[in-house]
Amino acid sequence: MKKIQMVDLKGQYEGIKNEVNQGMQEILEETSFINGPHVYAFQKELEEYLGVRNVIPCANGTDALQIAMMGLRLKPGDEVITADFTFAATVEVIALLQLTPVLVDVDPETFNIDPEEIKKAITPNTKAIVPVHLFGQTSNMDEIMEIAREHDLFVIEDNAQAIGANYHSKDGKTQKAGTIGDVAATSFFPSKNLGCYGDGGAIFTNNDELAHTIRGIVNHGMYERYHHDVVGVNSRLDSFQAAVLRAKLKRLDIYNEARKKAAISYSEAFKENEHIVTPVRSGDCDTHVYHQYTLKIKNGKRDALAKHLQEKGIPFGIYYPIPLHRQKAYLDERYQEKNFSVTNKLVEEVISLPMHTELEEEQIKYIAKTINDFVNA
Ligand SMILES: *Cc1c(COP(=O)(O)O)cnc(C)c1O
Repeated sequence: MKKIQMVDLKGQYEGIKNEVNQGMQEILEETSFINGPHVYAFQKELEEYLGVRNVIPCANGTDALQIAMMGLRLKPGDEVITADFTFAATVEVIALLQLTPVLVDVDPETFNIDPEEIKKAITPNTKAIVPVHLFGQTSNMDEIMEIAREHDLFVIEDNAQAIGANYHSKDGKTQKAGTIGDVAATSFFPSKNLGCYGDGGAIFTNNDELAHTIRGIVNHGMYERYHHDVVGVNSRLDSFQAAVLRAKLKRLDIYNEARKKAAISYSEAFKENEHIVTPVRSGDCDTHVYHQYTLKIKNGKRDALAKHLQEKGIPFGIYYPIPLHRQKAYLDERYQEKNFSVTNKLVEEVISLPMHTELEEEQIKYIAKTINDFVNA
C-alpha cells in the first residue's frame, strides 16, 4: 500500500506535469511574471466555469476577504456576523479593518453558520454577513440571502473551501458556491480543492461596479496610473501560479468527483458504527466537494483516537480545536458560552481524515478499519 498522506500534491502533479511545466517555461521565456497573459486567461476561464461576471485574482484568500470588505466600503464599528467555527482568517480581516466581528454558533450537522443564530445577532449596526462554506459544503444561502434582503445587509461568501460546489436554491436555480452573495473570496493555497504551488486567491462578484472598485483596490487604489483615488493594497496573483491553476481548473470537476468517491467509501465503512457520525449532505439543498472529510466521534474518544492514528502513521487534522470566541485576540465581553453550545461540542468531537484526489480504495479501507477497531474497543 502507498504511504498515506493527508493531501497528495505530488501524485496529482504527475497527472498535469507536462502542461504545468510548459506553462512555466512559457512564462520564463516571456518574462511576464506579474499580470501576464496566463493571469488574464485564468481569470476568464474561472469566470466561465463559475458563471460569474467578474473574477479578480489576488495574492491569497485572506487578502481576498479583506479586499472584498474594503470594496463594500464598510466603516469602523460596522458589525459583521460570521461563524464561530471556522479558520481565523475570516474574523481576522474583519478585526483588521476595525469592523466589529460578531461570532455566532453553527449548525451541528453541516458545521455551517446557523441562520437562526444570525437573526438573533442582528442589531442596527449590523452591515454584513460572512457565511463560510466549511469543509466544502455551501451554507444555507436561501435563508441567508432572505435575512440579508430583509435587513439590508451585504453577504460576503468565504468560499475558500467550497470551490466547484453547486447550490440548488428553492426557486430551482443552480449556482456555484461563491456566486450567490454580493461578493465572495476564495483561496488557492496548495491544499485547497483548486490549489496552486504557492499563495493565491480571488474575489468573485456579479456586480460590475463593485468589481471595478476592487480592481483598483488590489492595485494601490489606482484607477488611472499614478492617481490614487482610494487607499488600496498590493495584492497580485503571479503568472506561475496562474499557469498551475489553469491546468487544475480544467480538471476541477474530476478532482471533486474523486473526493466525493473517497467520501462515499469512507461513509460506507463507518455506517454501522454507532459512535461515529459521518458528514451530512444537507438534503437536495446543496452539494459537497469534501475539502475535508470530517467525522464526529460521539463516545469521548476523539483525543485518544488522534493519538492512536499518530502511532499508526495515519495523518489526520483537527479542524478546528478552539472556537474563535475563545481565542485571545477575539475575546468580547458580549459573548456568552451558552450561545456557543454547538461549536463548544464540535471542537471536542471532530476529526478530519486524509482527503485528496489520489486516495486509493485500499488506503481508505485500512484507515476506516483502524478507526472502527479503535473506537469500538
Ligand atoms: C484557507 C482559508 C482562508 C485563507 O486563505 P489563505 O489563502 O491561506 O490566505 C480563509 N478562509 C477559510 C475558511 C480558509 O479555509
